[in-house]
Amino acid sequence: MKVELLSITSNPEKLIEIAGRTSHLSFNRQGKNSEKNFIKMLIKKGHTSVLEHAYATFNISGVSRVLTHQLVRHRLCSFTQQSQRYVSELNFKYIEPDSIKKNSKAHSLFIKFMEEAKKVYLKLKDLEIINEDARFVLPNAIESQIVVSANFREWRNILELRGNIGAQWEIRKLVIKILKQLKKYAPTAFEDFEIDEEKSIIRKIKVR
Ligand SMILES: Cc1cc2nc3c(=O)[nH]c(=O)nc-3n(C[C@H](O)[C@H](O)[C@H](O)COP(=O)(O)OP(=O)(O)OC[C@H]3O[C@@H](n4cnc5c(N)ncnc54)[C@H](O)[C@@H]3O)c2cc1C
Repeated sequence: MKVELLSITSNPEKLIEIAGRTSHLSFNRQGKNSEKNFIKMLIKKGHTSVLEHAYATFNISGVSRVLTHQLVRHRLCSFTQQSQRYVSELNFKYIEPDSIKKNSKAHSLFIKFMEEAKKVYLKLKDLEIINEDARFVLPNAIESQIVVSANFREWRNILELRGNIGAQWEIRKLVIKILKQLKKYAPTAFEDFEIDEEKSIIRKIKVR
């Protein structure tokens, strides 16, 4: 899985402070690091709409369609995904879950099925079936690439829902990678999200 930060609002925490201070015209209260306390206050009071002024875009590759199908449920994001109509899936790569990889019988069944799917796809193409119809035989495990843009409020929503222990392992892995990058550029806006590497989850914590 590769997660590349393509773009992020420049000086995002300062922008959030300036936007937020417009409400009370309290610009004179700005100072060194004042954006930190201001953002903490916004999050504490639930005024997270102000966080919508900052955006981040990620290029995500080497993930399954299982993952991307879950990701695209987040309606406030903008998405562009690798097409299975315009891009041929001959020789497609796929993601194999650890539970299958570790079980030798399950693993050989899985590999056999992937190879069979490739063969059938190729045969359909040989029969001049177009990509958009040949893809009906492709598995959920197939690798895909997707670019996602969202504002910080929506990223916070995604991190909370998809970093949780109840979320699927692959999407949890993804949001941990996303959170690490967001924390670099906007540590305060994401400081109440803590990564537990061992359990591969994100915890929402209380910050003072
Ligand atoms: C662990 C887990 C299991 C899941 N299992 C299933 C499943 O079995 N089947 C299934 O279909 N889905 C499932 N989902 C997907 C889930 O139901 C949501 O569709 C998905 O998580 C997007 O959540 P969201 O609506 O909060 O996010 P977004 O679409 O990102 O929206 C962000 C926020 O904007 C607001 N919003 C967006 N659109 C509207 C609207 N139209 N009206 C009002 N407010 C809006 C809401 O406050 C929302 O929380 C699962 C999700 C998780 C995390």
